[in-house]
Amino acid sequence: MPEGGKIVSWDDTESASSGQFMDIEHGHNQARILSQNPYEVWVHWHKNPEGKTIRFLCPGSGCPLCSSNESPSRRFAVVVLNRKTRKVEILEQGPMVFGQIKNKKKITGYEDPRRYDIVITKSGKGTMHDTDYDVTPTPPSPLTPEEIDFIKQNYIKIETAYKLPSLDEVKQLIGLAPTVPVAPISKPVVSVGTTPTSSPDSADLDKFFSELGG
Ligand SMILES: [Zn+2]
Repeated sequence: MPEGGKIVSWDDTESASSGQFMDIEHGHNQARILSQNPYEVWVHWHKNPEGKTIRFLCPGSGCPLCSSNESPSRRFAVVVLNRKTRKVEILEQGPMVFGQIKNKKKITGYEDPRRYDIVITKSGKGTMHDTDYDVTPTPPSPLTPEEIDFIKQNYIKIETAYKLPSLDEVKQLIGLAPTVPVAPISKPVVSVGTTPTSSPDSADLDKFFSELGG
């Protein structure tokens, strides 16, 4: 948790943790999935009054955008070892990429996506409606002891990268006046859709690390 305030660059104000996310570039992007299960999030991309598209997590019940029929997109996230940056990062993509990862699980020897790298090939013009993602697995191979050590030291708890905004924060982002709270003890709204049923990452991590050697 952050302690107190600090002066940051203006570049840091858009997303507090953008550096944690894996950048999918045109061409080949290779990574090793480290999460046992994907983490589901619902994301709004909203054009604000200045014409700029802003991204934020759907706060769930009472969301002003959902109320005006602007549906959030379903996204999935896993912790990965990005082979290009050699960093532990979060891979967040939609069903197009994750559906392909799921299909690889049906191949004998490829049931556990943590046992091989995936290569995501991005092609197309790069616009929202003209971008293709193709997912190919590499032959299964164990992580080296050095890689396991590095992952242990740099592992990201995926929950920490996804903090639900409050309704007032969303209203502010989309240019609506925040509501004045009626009761001083208004509880934060938690949505079922945006919260994972469980967080297997931390619990299974030790087991996973011990399995990796074999
Ligand atoms: Zn919403």
